[in-house]
Amino acid sequence: MDNHIKIFDTTLRDGEQSPGYSMNKPEKLRLALQLEKLGVDVIEAGFPIASDGDYETVKEIGKIIKKSTVAALCRTRDVDLERAVAAVQHAAKPRIHTFIATSDIHLKYKLQQTREQVLESAVRAVEYAKSHYDDVEFSAEDASRSDPDFLIEIFTAVIEAGATTINVPDTVGYALPWEYADLIKTLNENIPNIHKAVISVHCHNDLGLAVANSLMAVQNGARQIECTVNGIGERAGNASLEEVVMAIETRKNIMNYTTSINTKEIFPSSQMLSQITGKGVQPNKAIVGENAFAHEAGIHQHGVLKNPLTYEIMTPESVGLTCNKIVIGKHSGRFALCKKLEELGYFLEKEDLNRVYVKVTQLADEKKVVEDHDLVSILALMNNTPKKPSQKLASGG
Ligand SMILES: [Zn+2]
Repeated sequence: MDNHIKIFDTTLRDGEQSPGYSMNKPEKLRLALQLEKLGVDVIEAGFPIASDGDYETVKEIGKIIKKSTVAALCRTRDVDLERAVAAVQHAAKPRIHTFIATSDIHLKYKLQQTREQVLESAVRAVEYAKSHYDDVEFSAEDASRSDPDFLIEIFTAVIEAGATTINVPDTVGYALPWEYADLIKTLNENIPNIHKAVISVHCHNDLGLAVANSLMAVQNGARQIECTVNGIGERAGNASLEEVVMAIETRKNIMNYTTSINTKEIFPSSQMLSQITGKGVQPNKAIVGENAFAHEAGIHQHGVLKNPLTYEIMTPESVGLTCNKIVIGKHSGRFALCKKLEELGYFLEKEDLNRVYVKVTQLADEKKVVEDHDLVSILALMNNTPKKPSQKLASGG
């Protein structure tokens, strides 16, 4: 089995639909370009049926992205499918991602449909998508709470209809790592035509297990992980892209897998998302938090200065945190400040740069060195106009 793990980023769809993270079109285009630079295999650009704005944005992202696949999400209904197919018409590598719920609880209370009806809708949707594009993903929403026998039946049928990726979401963040591992193993061993499709996982973090579940799935045959920058997403969020990728990178001795991610773009991507949404990550957030590479305790500092391996399992540089290469103080000019901000993922217009520069020089009078987190705070304060969460049609998955 191929050891390459595809990274499917859904920051612009699942992430964006969570409260407080809505982005406008120029912001999404900027982030999409950064995600391509980061090296994600697939960018889920939006849910085109949700609004005209979403449709237009997905279309524009399809025009500017050349290397990554651009996916549009849709339910199995005709209007949804038509809209998604139209939205990715200009993409170099288009993908249709269609979904329907498969758990009995969703069938009974949400869809009010039988398993036969759901299976028929899924197959019809995949056939329709396949008549337009080769790359078709099918998600069984709430898969982790669905009957495995029904999952085997529906996945076999959609692969037969042309699905090239089958997604097994833990939509409600309910699965435990070993339980989810068993489910992926069962699917991998019992879907007769599974060799024609990639198994994908989409885990939510309601119990803080999204990354653990994703990694267990990979160990049992999954080859695509759906995740988001900073782990944003519905409720407690999705599996965090930076955590999944750095776990694989750091523990290559145990997990012999590869990804296409340029890890040095991880920190700039995280910073760009925080800057756009005005929401930073918690200081102790793994990989990208302000304290992730900070050493306060004397014993730790001493060790790290002698040899970073004493207390660091990965280097700050490996994730693009080039903290001490440029030190910003009161003697620093606008050029150095501009370079430093770019390293941190902020690309400012001249006017904004001047405003930051004034604040930085004021601060530099009080303390000798203006540190990365000072700059991030200054930018956050300048960027604190709260955004209105737009009314959106929430989707599953
Ligand atoms: Zn989701």
